[in-house]
Formats: sequence, structure tokens, C-alpha cells
Amino acid sequence: MYGLYIGREMFPDGVVYFSQDTHYSVVKILRVLKSRNIMIKSQDSGEIDYEDLYETIRINRDSPVIFIANIGTTMKGAVDDVGRVRKILDDLVITNFYIHADAALSGMVLPFVDEPQPYGFDAGFDSVAVSGHKMIGSPMPCGVALTKREYVGRIARSIEYVGVLDTTLTGSRNAITPLMLWYAFEQHGLDGFREIVGECISVAEYAVSRFNDSGIPAWRNRNSVTVVFPRPSEEVIRRWQLAPYEDIAHLIAMPHVTREIIDRVVDDCLRSQQTNPSTGE
Ligand SMILES: *Cc1c(COP(=O)(O)O)cnc(C)c1O
Repeated sequence: MYGLYIGREMFPDGVVYFSQDTHYSVVKILRVLKSRNIMIKSQDSGEIDYEDLYETIRINRDSPVIFIANIGTTMKGAVDDVGRVRKILDDLVITNFYIHADAALSGMVLPFVDEPQPYGFDAGFDSVAVSGHKMIGSPMPCGVALTKREYVGRIARSIEYVGVLDTTLTGSRNAITPLMLWYAFEQHGLDGFREIVGECISVAEYAVSRFNDSGIPAWRNRNSVTVVFPRPSEEVIRRWQLAPYEDIAHLIAMPHVTREIIDRVVDDCLRSQQTNPSTGE
């Protein structure tokens, strides 16, 4: 919300573009902000459809662009290519634009892999948001929103009685959750997180091959810990608290997910298929 608020303050008449696979919270935020916005088609992988994006921006070429890139979509872990988005903006000679990265999960994955897709300020992002209770593992919901100092200045308001410039949306803030994040970083360090993320990715790889060896067409996006597979029976969904969406489901190889757990999920999916192959029930 902070990122989109800054984008809107910079370009009040901007149009917000985001893909179909964007997290539901974004639509909610856009309603609060009353920003004009257009949803763009996604590819099957979950990545944004760049042709639809090009065409849609072209038609609205007179308006500044506020783009929300998914750095790891919720369902499929897909990463929008900010380089291609920048190229589209260049091709359409759009000079007023703001790009926000929703990096809730993968913002803590990509920094620790060998060949990450672009995710940071060097790639052209104006703000980045990362959740604290996903890969970092905070037991309380929290997150980090990063942007450039010059932008923060635009929304700062001097509040005399607290004696500081208020740059927040929420006002008073929780002081415990930053401590949780600090603790996680002190505990693991960058090398620790590299190891944790490496193990998560290898468990995700393991899951894809276990599914595939069992004849279930599971797959995952590059550098993603999210494994997508056909929606299993309601019983399996309930047992493993899986997140289904239409005809797919996913599992996310977070640090507590072991190969043994994967084996059990795959076996359960297989068993439910065999019980009733026509409906999967
Ligand atoms: C989880 C998630 C969110 C929501 O983040 P919270 O920090 O839980 O509010 C937003 N976007 C994506 C892509 C997510 O995966």
C-alpha cells in the first residue's frame, strides 16, 4: 500500500497496471486509493502477458504508468520481467512511470540464488515490499517496504506534537516486529539464509520430480519455491491445508517442509486419484 500510495502521490492521474495473478490485496488497496487501474492478462506460467500490457498501455498512452510487478506471484511463484516492462515503456516513449515490486515471498528468495531475475532498485524499481512472516519466518505478521528517500520526502508531513516528520500511513508502529526481523537476520545471517533458501529450492525440485515420477504433471517457475500441481480431492486439500485455485493447487517449500512431507503429499494425491480418477474426489 505504501508503494502504491507514493506512486499515486507522484502521478495522481496515473493508471495502475497489474496482472491477473496479482495478490487480492492489491485490488483492495486500489479501491482504497481510488486509483484508476487496469488488470492485464497473465500467461499460463503466471507471468504477465507482455503483449496485452503493451497494447493496453499504448491505448492509454497519455497517462502516466504505475506498474505493479509480481516478484513471485502468490499461486505460481512467477516473476514479471521488469526489463521487458521498461522496454515497453521506452518503446511507447512513456517518461512518467513508477514501478513497484510486490516481492512478498520471492523478495527473500531471489537475493540468495545464483541467477536471480531482476528484483531490486538497480533493475529500475521505485519501491519494493517484502513480507516478514513468510520466508523470514516472523511469528507475527509484518513486512518491509523500501523506497527512495526523495520519494518519502514527498509524503512527509511535519507533526509538531510528536516532534518528527510523519512519513507513515499507519502512524504509531509496532516496535516488536522489527526486533523479530533483526533477530532472524542475527540468527541466520546472509549465509544462513542462502543455505535455507537453497534447501527450500531443492525440496521444491524434489517435489516436482516426485510428482512427475508418479505421473502427476507438477511444475514450478525458475527460482521459485512454489510447486503447482492439479487440484487434488477436497480431502487431500483439507488434510494438508493446501491452497487451491480453480483446477490447480500449490505447495510452497518453506523451511519446515521436508522431503518426507512431500512424499506423503504425493502419495495422498496419488491415492485420491486412484479412488476416483474421473472427478478426483
Ligand atoms: C502473501 C502475499 C501478499 C500479502 O502479503 P502480507 O505481507 O501477508 O500482507 C502480497 N503479495 C503476494 C505476491 C503474496 O504472496
